[in-house]
Amino acid sequence: MLKFESVTKKYAGDQVALEDVDLKITGGEFVFIVGPSGAGKSTLLKLITREISPTSGRILINDEDIFLTPPSKVPQLRRQIGTVFQDFKLLLTRTVFENVALPLEVLSKKESDIEKEVSSVLEKVGLLEKAERFPAELSGGEVQRTAIARAIIANPQILLADEPTADLDPKTALSVISLLDKINKEDKTTVLMATHNATIVNHFKKRVVVLEQGKVAKDEKEGKYESG
Ligand code: ADP
Repeated sequence: MLKFESVTKKYAGDQVALEDVDLKITGGEFVFIVGPSGAGKSTLLKLITREISPTSGRILINDEDIFLTPPSKVPQLRRQIGTVFQDFKLLLTRTVFENVALPLEVLSKKESDIEKEVSSVLEKVGLLEKAERFPAELSGGEVQRTAIARAIIANPQILLADEPTADLDPKTALSVISLLDKINKEDKTTVLMATHNATIVNHFKKRVVVLEQGKVAKDEKEGKYESG
């Protein structure tokens, strides 16, 4: 369970990015966060990863205020969240396999376990045959699949994706989001995806939270998004 309680985020210069946002997301939900550029979508996701902190209000994961988590428990908290962000690029000098293995290496897992787990995730995202390729040898869709594999390799409860279809053609975009849909259904991972791709949102008929100028303007179960 992920909860925003009256969350306001102001950046320097009193730039209000989010204002009094209340949001309750149950474990296993799939939620599109939509709205025009500057509406506060990235800010909302960055608060969940604790990259930034709220000016006021609370953010809770499983009833725990993530900004009051003692430092010793922060790594554990981080592992509950997987991210597919535009600026979290793949390492170009490492293969698909090595990129996906990284989070497990950080956890000092045994090599044989890493081998097994990475192969299983690469199979899930349809990239087993490309395991030894380098990022430059992949299509845009394959790069995103690799990033998704890396994000879910440590079995996070929550998967955050910020505009994962931004650079993809419509067909590839659809297949990448179908993959997020599969992960959500099969692994019961909660998925929050920020986008302004109306075609994708309207195709998948998920919960849609519309942000406008930092406020929740709409929150619908099988929502539609009319952009522009
Ligand atoms: P979105 O992801 O919906 O495009 P953002 O969350 O990136 O929106 O931005 C929300 C608002 O906060 C915008 O007005 C943006 O200019 C502002 N903003 C975002 N990041 C910063 C920052 N680091 N410093 C100052 N203002 C920022």
